[in-house]
Amino acid sequence: MPRSHSHHSHSHAEDAEPFTLDGLAELLRSKGLRMTGNRRAILQALLKAKKPLGLEEIQTEAVRQSKGGEPPDFATVFRMMALLEELKIARKVNLGRASSYFELVDSRHHRDHLVCTDCGTVTPLEGNCPVESLERQIARKHGYTQVTHSLEFFGLCGDCSTDAAS
Ligand SMILES: [Zn+2]
Ligand SMILES: [Zn+2]
Repeated sequence: MPRSHSHHSHSHAEDAEPFTLDGLAELLRSKGLRMTGNRRAILQALLKAKKPLGLEEIQTEAVRQSKGGEPPDFATVFRMMALLEELKIARKVNLGRASSYFELVDSRHHRDHLVCTDCGTVTPLEGNCPVESLERQIARKHGYTQVTHSLEFFGLCGDCSTDAAS
């Protein structure tokens, strides 16, 4: 049996090991991938992100991160994200839009999201995941391990609700 989550909920003191560029670089190397300047810039863009990013946003931020070096073009960002997704380092987040949005996968601290369907604001939900125990139940019931989930709530944010009422 793999050691999975204990029954205690995570306290903030346990959040001491955040994602780092070094950790991700190590992970890429272990998959046989070289750490290029472009890849570093893209990973930095994702690490800095407070919400899921679209490909254009990743490119814009990666250009900002690639100090001096040749900034990654759109095709490079696209290929890199496909690769990171395949390696389960990043994942697509469903924001109810046609284009793709990505965030890094942190198996210990996944994020659920609240999405405004009008203005597109994305709010990562802080605190304990509302369906953690349900996830454990489902895993147990179906004999699964390594179960994860992606949970997005959709609605109108405060500003857009006010607009709709007036
Ligand atoms: Zn809104
Ligand atoms: Zn969750």
